[in-house]
Amino acid sequence: MVYYVDNKGFFISADGRFVCYLCKRSYKRRSHLKRHIENECIHSTRNYECQLCHRRFKQKTHLDRHIKAEVCLRYK
Ligand SMILES: [Zn+2]
Ligand SMILES: [Zn+2]
Repeated sequence: MVYYVDNKGFFISADGRFVCYLCKRSYKRRSHLKRHIENECIHSTRNYECQLCHRRFKQKTHLDRHIKAEVCLRYK
């Protein structure tokens, strides 16, 4: 698959869709792709979210530590 990169640094596939460079999901709109990368991409660097307080972490180990060390305010 050949991708182009637009002026904002987003990948665009040959058929004109905006493509997530992490998981290769594609979207018709750049704003949708942006939302995907920031909030829901499974490979996003900020994807590790505490289910209790919704803090996000870059690494799974950070999230584990957050929960296990009971730093999480909502941990019970
Ligand atoms: Zn993705
Ligand atoms: Zn938490």
